[in-house]
Amino acid sequence: MSTHISSCFSGVKLFPFWLDRSDAPAVERELIGRTNADLVIVGGGFTGLWAAVQAKEMDPSLDVVVLEAGKVAYGASGRAGGIVSTSVMHGLPNAVRVFPNDLDALEQLGQENLDGFKQAVAHYGIEADIEWNGEMTVAVEERHLPQLREDYELHRRHGHNVVLLDREQVQAQLASPLYAGAMWSKDRSGTVHPAKMAWGLKAAALRLGVRLYELSPLTRLEDNNTSMVVHTPSGRVTTPRVLLGTGTANVGITDINRRVVQVRDHVLATDPLTDEQLARIGWHNRQGVYDTRTQLNYYRLTRDNRIIFGGLVSYHFNGNPNPAQDADERTYYRLGEVFRKTFPQLQDVSFSHAWGGPIDYCSRGAVFARPYFDGKVVYVAGYTGFGVAGSRFGARMGLNMLLDRDAPERHLDIARTGVSMIPPEPLRWLGAKITFHAFDGADDQGGWKRWWINGIKRLGFPM
Ligand SMILES: Cc1cc2nc3c(=O)[nH]c(=O)nc-3n(C[C@H](O)[C@H](O)[C@H](O)COP(=O)(O)OP(=O)(O)OC[C@H]3O[C@@H](n4cnc5c(N)ncnc54)[C@H](O)[C@@H]3O)c2cc1C
Repeated sequence: MSTHISSCFSGVKLFPFWLDRSDAPAVERELIGRTNADLVIVGGGFTGLWAAVQAKEMDPSLDVVVLEAGKVAYGASGRAGGIVSTSVMHGLPNAVRVFPNDLDALEQLGQENLDGFKQAVAHYGIEADIEWNGEMTVAVEERHLPQLREDYELHRRHGHNVVLLDREQVQAQLASPLYAGAMWSKDRSGTVHPAKMAWGLKAAALRLGVRLYELSPLTRLEDNNTSMVVHTPSGRVTTPRVLLGTGTANVGITDINRRVVQVRDHVLATDPLTDEQLARIGWHNRQGVYDTRTQLNYYRLTRDNRIIFGGLVSYHFNGNPNPAQDADERTYYRLGEVFRKTFPQLQDVSFSHAWGGPIDYCSRGAVFARPYFDGKVVYVAGYTGFGVAGSRFGARMGLNMLLDRDAPERHLDIARTGVSMIPPEPLRWLGAKITFHAFDGADDQGGWKRWWINGIKRLGFPM
């Protein structure tokens, strides 16, 4: 008889596994006093860090300041599942949905971005436990197979090295009684330790001469016509250009909050699996995995063979960045149940860490860059849960816009168009509540839940 799921949480830490390390780098000092810079980057997540590194690569003489409200990597970046994917559009099917006429060019940008990601990792000697084992989309129900086959054909047409696996073949890769088939995309993706990646980028930025201040939140943006003044509690920077890599945070620009919504996603880390436990599920090729549930789950192995198992989205009124539920162990029980249903062979495995993190959801389902203050400020976000590699591209797109550099994406709608507005509160809260309630039962019960989700999709929102 199986025990109640709470028994698997007896030693759990409600903190991101990735950040729970004694070798985290020292926190940089806070900004105190007045200074000037050629470029200010706000936010020390992947977007801000990639922007800092790439700005120095574009022009080593630029004086670049990064301001991070808390500590580098403590936002979405150090909380991610860490599956690295090529697409800058949240996958090919989403690119088809949003920019069907630019598919080849977007694929090319994704490929170049991943090449740039790999080169930077090698060039700066970033140690981030990267494994290039591909990614697998697993169908958890027979009726998801036709869609899987369609996605497979789409990827093949665009030159991806993909294979379609039947029930037996997928079990040989990763054993779960739920899997009816899978698509394994063999290259162009893998897994990374996201906190080590962010800390590696931080070290690279510092080596390049970037002035990085932690514990230095932007409190106000002041427009002086020819320049901007970026205020923090103890300092200010005068600069002609500001890149905002602040994710879903409220930075005082109402238009941003109309277009980007914070939803919370949740993740579990197991204790390290013994060789015998790992042998029960196989997973010799250690791919990153997404499943086809409406309430999507994603999972991967860590270097010490823990399973990172993510995917239980929620919404909190006004996009509350610190909901009480994240600090309550019971929030994670449902995710634990899904883990057990997926891998009933691992009933004896417990969870070591559980955490939540912010997803910057937008109608495009992928990154956008938007100018403010006559182009002196550019905001970059909207990855919708798919920004580990995409953030390098997002940062580059933002810099190209801010510095007015010609670049391939500036001739495409990905850089030329924006994202739709999302209804304000309390409609936003109501819509999100109904949608997430529908997610929970859509696969098992169908009925109005599936009808509602299809309706939201038809309105142009990615699900
Ligand atoms: C649970 C979870 C799982 C995910 N899994 C994956 C995955 O497997 N693969 C994938 O590709 N993507 C994944 N993502 C998405 C990915 O993590 C994000 O797209 C990416 O990290 C976004 O980086 P960012 O720098 O834009 O945002 P963030 O990392 O959130 O950085 C924004 C930074 O801005 C700072 N900031 C905010 N306000 C201010 C201010 N006023 N002043 C100064 N600084 C400020 C914040 O403190 C924060 O550090 C996941 C996200 C979550 C939450």
